[in-house]
Amino acid sequence: MSFATITSFLQKIAPLANLSEKELQLLQTPEHILQAELDVDGKNYPAYRVQYNNARGPYKGGIRFHPDVHLDEVKSLAFWMTLKCAVADIPLGGGKGGITFDPKKFSESELEEISRVYIRAFYQHLGSEKDIPAPDVYTTPQIMGWMLDEYEQLMGRKDPGMITGKPLELGGSYVRDIATALGGTYVLEEAVKKLNLSHKTVAIQGFGNAGMNMAKLLSSHYTIVAVSDSKGGIYDSKGLDIGKVIEAKEKTGSVVGYSSVRKISNEELLTCDCAILIPSALNDVITKDNAAQVQAKIVLELANGPTTIEADEILFKKGIVVLPDILSNAGGVTVSCFEWQQNVRHEHWDAEKVKEKLREKMISAFNQLWSVYQGRNYNFRTATYIHAIKKVLDAERKRGRI
Ligand code: NAD
Repeated sequence: MSFATITSFLQKIAPLANLSEKELQLLQTPEHILQAELDVDGKNYPAYRVQYNNARGPYKGGIRFHPDVHLDEVKSLAFWMTLKCAVADIPLGGGKGGITFDPKKFSESELEEISRVYIRAFYQHLGSEKDIPAPDVYTTPQIMGWMLDEYEQLMGRKDPGMITGKPLELGGSYVRDIATALGGTYVLEEAVKKLNLSHKTVAIQGFGNAGMNMAKLLSSHYTIVAVSDSKGGIYDSKGLDIGKVIEAKEKTGSVVGYSSVRKISNEELLTCDCAILIPSALNDVITKDNAAQVQAKIVLELANGPTTIEADEILFKKGIVVLPDILSNAGGVTVSCFEWQQNVRHEHWDAEKVKEKLREKMISAFNQLWSVYQGRNYNFRTATYIHAIKKVLDAERKRGRI
């Protein structure tokens, strides 16, 4: 979503959140925009780190490697991180970073080099009490390992909490790999209870880290009727055998390799007969052109920004509850926060402890938002934004910055 769309949404909800002009201005303005041209083997690659807001704690947000990375997108993602950390009630602010290049065209050693060059460009602005990056699209625990190593060499001291999503051997946390999906299941369970939803059929778009883990985790209690990836989707009204779908994906490279079920397009998946729709791939997939055909009662946004602002209005008028990305996928950053806390306290928590703490955080976040939303004449996303904005501004006020 463009940054201009975000700021116009902020302006739209400003009266509902009682925002003054000064507060609105603060929310629309990233604190620091860092940019560099990374020189790798004589070629230059644009790189960014946007430090959006640190009123609630050090800046926090992933680093994306993708040919479409540009400053406007990084600003949008950094803004969302600020709100996401406030929603999850973790003591972190918001940031995001990225490099504009196609990592699929790079060898392993070239990936290591560009990761290290990124840290050399920005290391003075990073640190466990300053700004803490993490993985995002096409960045992995291994890349976090190289970045940590480069940072510690430059600083001449250990600081494992300066980055999260690390391999376990370097101070990573258990559960980080499934945290986004697991957090999403806790939110969904609460929403299903509140809405008394008895018909638990689910369609999931995207079958990567977020979507596949969601399908796996839900498959014991829910009927997964449709899943998809970039090559297309599959549908079975009686429910797909997710273990077999994963096998087919591993063997053939796509869920459509699972034979003997109906093939559907990604567009059809979004409007198929299901009670719960979980977009887990791309942004801007539910639009004004298909929102009216969505049949689900709940849309749980595991992807960042899958619903356009116009589509959001249409879904609201149809009585569909959209559980927004800054709540639904906050499990990832919440376990990142746990990883950082373990690192700075020199602790190592077991998987059960991490899961229990995540469950508490997600359920508490959902219930606080539900109380803001209930009985109001605006949608759940607006309630979530109002709640998160208030927390950021309260911290700004206590600091005397507004
Ligand atoms: P991933 O790369 O592991 O998986 C992406 C999936 O989307 C793949 O299955 C891919 O085939 C599918 N896909 C790509 N193009 C598609 C298309 N046109 N139609 C349908 N499917 C398509 O990525 P991920 O980590 O699962 O992230 C997915 C979304 O979730 C992104 O929006 C990301 O920002 C968001 N998210 C992920 C995490 C996390 O911890 N993984 C945390 C927060 C938000």
